[in-house]
Amino acid sequence: METYEVIIIGGGLSGIMAARTLMENGVKDILIVEKSKSVGGRLATRRIGEGKADHGAQFFTVRSPELQEDSARWLEAGWVKRWFGTPYPRYTSTAGMNALAKQLAKSIPVKLNSRVSSILDGRDGPLEVELENGERNTANHCIVTAPAPQALQLMAGIAPPEVSTISFAPCFVGMFTFDGSSSIPSPGHVDEGLPDGVERVVDHEKKGISSTVTVSVYMTGDWSKQQVEMEEDSILAAIQKVAEGFLEKGSRVTGAQLKKWKYSEAEAVVRTPFVEMGHEGRIVLCGDAFLRENDEAGRTRFESAYLSGVSAGTRVAGKR
Ligand SMILES: Cc1cc2nc3c(=O)[nH]c(=O)nc-3n(C[C@H](O)[C@H](O)[C@H](O)COP(=O)(O)OP(=O)(O)OC[C@H]3O[C@@H](n4cnc5c(N)ncnc54)[C@H](O)[C@@H]3O)c2cc1C
Repeated sequence: METYEVIIIGGGLSGIMAARTLMENGVKDILIVEKSKSVGGRLATRRIGEGKADHGAQFFTVRSPELQEDSARWLEAGWVKRWFGTPYPRYTSTAGMNALAKQLAKSIPVKLNSRVSSILDGRDGPLEVELENGERNTANHCIVTAPAPQALQLMAGIAPPEVSTISFAPCFVGMFTFDGSSSIPSPGHVDEGLPDGVERVVDHEKKGISSTVTVSVYMTGDWSKQQVEMEEDSILAAIQKVAEGFLEKGSRVTGAQLKKWKYSEAEAVVRTPFVEMGHEGRIVLCGDAFLRENDEAGRTRFESAYLSGVSAGTRVAGKR
């Protein structure tokens, strides 16, 4: 059993930003616990053959001064670039969105392949964070960044009611390799004039992150909900038909993969960047569905995750 000042559950952008903020404020005795084999969460990139495809967030927009300042640094470092859009630019990672997450998490202690199964708040002692494999670690504070419905399962019975109002839509994404060009126009992102049920299509070669033509097709939340009970093969076949509509003459689809996101974009959010719970508020829930009161966009996105993580990290650092 190890003891930490702060354990952060989830190594997506919220968790990474909470950790970076704690470290910047002198709190170094921290650990991110992440169930997957890599950090990033919904900042997800898959290698397909020689190429790559983003299949979570494709880009981010910047409204807040905090992200403005950081994204200027990331631009300078060559980690991100302006992809398209005026007057509000869409920024994207130069090596795929997951690479940005990895870059930001570089100096943070992370325990991968470790799913937290419960957080026990015994009041008299520190918090106990139990993993699925039975391992237990203790912490004085816990920041929970898993999407709210998953976070609530870790703390049966003690979550404040507003958090249980948060709900997410699913999103099914097909990723395809082409042996020739796609007809998706430069710079490789289309989200208008698409067939019913299709949210957007992206050509990652034109986006500049893949040496081969890989195309991601994102289906809408409504379409994805309707297909939840369907076999994966038939879901993928239906999405492939959309992709085939973007083949240039003479090109073929040479490979197809499916990603089913259960939690994509929140359908209901809360207007507070974090919620404190447990004894003396030492468990802090945050994540992309926890929006600042003055959030203009009003929806879950890269920036809402970033800001929520920063706010939670600042709060916990200030308590010590
Ligand atoms: C398909 C899709 C497209 C999107 N497109 C865009 C876009 O173009 N622009 C944009 O701005 N935003 C977009 N988003 C939203 C953006 O990706 C998210 O808002 C943001 O990445 C969320 O970050 P987060 O850290 O709050 O959550 P997540 O990234 O979900 O991180 C939570 C982490 O917690 C881990 N976890 C969960 N439970 C446990 C547990 N019990 N134990 C340990 N670890 C656990 C998960 O594995 C995950 O890594 C998109 C999202 C999706 C899914």
